Amino acid sequence: MPRQADRNPLAPGLAALAGTDVSSARGDAQPAFDCQSCGACCSYSADWPRFSTEEDAELDRIPEKYVSADLSGMRCEGGRCAALRGEVGKGTACTIYEIRPHVCRACMPGGDDCLMARAARGLPVN
Ligand code: SF4
Ligand code: SF4
Repeated sequence: MPRQADRNPLAPGLAALAGTDVSSARGDAQPAFDCQSCGACCSYSADWPRFSTEEDAELDRIPEKYVSADLSGMRCEGGRCAALRGEVGKGTACTIYEIRPHVCRACMPGGDDCLMARAARGLPVN
């Protein structure tokens, strides 16, 4: 299973990954999005759901079938995380929600990463 040497403690958020500033799309009010009818951030880029600040014990709980070959993050098919179930933009769920990586926990509905991922999938951002 992944160990400290496999991880990037500075794993970027999605917006930083793409060098994108989506702050202008956010406006003053924070929109309330329902992650269970979205899944955009989980299907944005294979470079995103990387392991970073997790303890070894946390990573050991993630089923091996969902871990990338180089042990650096979640396994993705295209840009889509293997642990994501359902149809993006309609109905989705993280099958390892309780034990998901830290970058996934940091992606908050209405935040910059969220807005960028939703925009990339053609989903409303406000
Ligand atoms: S893109 Fe935003 S709304 Fe969609 S699943 Fe991620 S955090 Fe939730
Ligand atoms: S582990 Fe779960 S929350 Fe994280 S990218 Fe995969 S499906 Fe999304």
